[in-house]
Amino acid sequence: MRLLIIEDEPGIARFLKQGLEEEAYEVDVVASGPEGLAQAQTQPYALLLVDWMLPGLTGLEVCRQLRASGSTTPLIFLTARDTVADTVAGLQAGANDYIKKPFHFDELLERIRVQLRPAGRPLERFTLGPIVLDVSTHQVSKHGQEISLTQKEFALLEYLLRHKGKVCRRRQLIENVWDIHFEYNTGVIDVYMNALRKKLGLSKDDDYLQTIRGVGYAARD
Ligand code: CA
Repeated sequence: MRLLIIEDEPGIARFLKQGLEEEAYEVDVVASGPEGLAQAQTQPYALLLVDWMLPGLTGLEVCRQLRASGSTTPLIFLTARDTVADTVAGLQAGANDYIKKPFHFDELLERIRVQLRPAGRPLERFTLGPIVLDVSTHQVSKHGQEISLTQKEFALLEYLLRHKGKVCRRRQLIENVWDIHFEYNTGVIDVYMNALRKKLGLSKDDDYLQTIRGVGYAARD
């Protein structure tokens, strides 16, 4: 992923570039507002780090012009100006976040990662022995091999993993996974559990997905 730093203080620019390259980002640096604006408008960056006080055009103005031209590239301000009014102006101009100088590199890195997450969603992963369920990508794998599940199978496994170690009662499963709240036959759960075990390569007596007779099911490591 390629990032653009618009920063006129060489020391800070160098420090950021080096740190971000160590984190495997590709990094370009420019030192003035007009150069930054031109570069951001013509190159496909994943994210922009923009100093507030820049020669030629302020960071705020760069941000305003970028947003006015339709760019939605995430933008984080680096600012020594930490008054509330400045912050509000930055966010109103379309910035996604800001960080006050001096800052810890780790904090900046975390803010960058938040902006680069798909759709801003938090990473949500659950494990069960060798099985990994990733809610954000909607993928399930075992020993690193992807396993294809139906929507309902995925939802059932997700529910059991969110409650790992606890017994999920049949009624609880039918209400939460199937969203059925009236007269129901919970036999459907067994059908899906069997399908799920088969796809995950688990036997009926395995320890990972346990049948609690007469009560429900439990996922246990
Ligand atoms: Ca500056």
